[in-house]
Amino acid sequence: MKFARNAQSLDASYIREILSAANQPEMISMAGGLPASSLLPVELVRATCESLADNSHLFQYGNSQGFGPLLDTLQRSSKTQNPWLICNGSQQALDLIARALLEPGDQVIAEMPAYLGALQVFQLSGIKVCPLMSSTSGPDLDQLESYLKGGNIKLFYSVPDFHNPTGRVWSTETRIAVAKLCRHYGVTLVEDAPYRELRFAGEQLDTVSEHCPELSISLKSFSKIGFPGLRVGAMSGPADFIAVAERIKQATDLHTGIPQQAMIEALLNHPEFSEHLTRLRQGYQSRYQHLSDALQQQLGDLVQFDTVEGGMFVWLTLTQGNSSDVAARALQHKLAVVPGAAFYPADMALENSALRLNFSNTEPALFPEAVNRLAQALQPMALTA
Ligand code: PMP
Repeated sequence: MKFARNAQSLDASYIREILSAANQPEMISMAGGLPASSLLPVELVRATCESLADNSHLFQYGNSQGFGPLLDTLQRSSKTQNPWLICNGSQQALDLIARALLEPGDQVIAEMPAYLGALQVFQLSGIKVCPLMSSTSGPDLDQLESYLKGGNIKLFYSVPDFHNPTGRVWSTETRIAVAKLCRHYGVTLVEDAPYRELRFAGEQLDTVSEHCPELSISLKSFSKIGFPGLRVGAMSGPADFIAVAERIKQATDLHTGIPQQAMIEALLNHPEFSEHLTRLRQGYQSRYQHLSDALQQQLGDLVQFDTVEGGMFVWLTLTQGNSSDVAARALQHKLAVVPGAAFYPADMALENSALRLNFSNTEPALFPEAVNRLAQALQPMALTA
């Protein structure tokens, strides 16, 4: 069969491949971006699940825009009047954005390293990614402005809260400055925020979109605060954009499944939902603390990392060695981690000094052993001796 050019060039996701290795017995996986299985709020939707069979209307075709009660819930919690579209995860929102706004050869800006799933969508659509460097307070604003000044940028794809893979959060000043720049140059901002609710320290900051709602598209995921397996996410944006994205969604899959939207709606409106979020944040804070302590105690000067105030990831910089080699050796020691190179487009200068460590899906007591395995992977000479 002759495949389309963009399909031929789409790289297999390193993470999906490593996830299959991660299922091996005795493997400790810090590779995926999975929420803690033990903290999934199954009890909060048990009654809804049990009553599904009594609600046959939920099994009919539905609206492309989404299940009415879920749309109402989202609208009630919105700070803007922008309408919502329910998607199969926020991943589908990225695909719909690309199809609604971008032509092959168009340029988008993305912070590097970047969320791999967004890079795949851009690659599949033949989009050129302009890499934007970032630091602990957010993207390099001078570089951002020089890209915007060039005049060929269609949109800026951003993850301002607990970035995947770096765990970084943009400062308030950066948020305001980015909104101002996008306004000045008339460039669409895509704000992807699946980890925003997972803050366990520090203060919640405004979204960037609040400062420029007329040209922002905000993505919401229910995978990290609810259930990734249900594949429900959403996006809001200017009404003309949402109308076009809805037509594309209709042509793609008609609509997202109604029973799973009803389950998410029940979860969000459950009286114990905010307690669930508190439990989740505490659980992740404890995991992060165990990981951070183990890294400092066992690896000391061999690694560096910035503290994180939420999310699911630590971006670990190795002071020596190549991170792809270390990740490969870690697998032999039954520890799965993702090397930094996986978060760059294939044709870009490769990162070889960092690893992404996920801390949400490992039980706290396992971190000393996980870091011990990483220490062994960092010292192959000592091992073979
Ligand atoms: N954006 C980012 C930054 C992510 O990390 C992820 C998933 N890990 C997604 C979008 C997609 O999430 P979902 O489709 O499950 O909502």
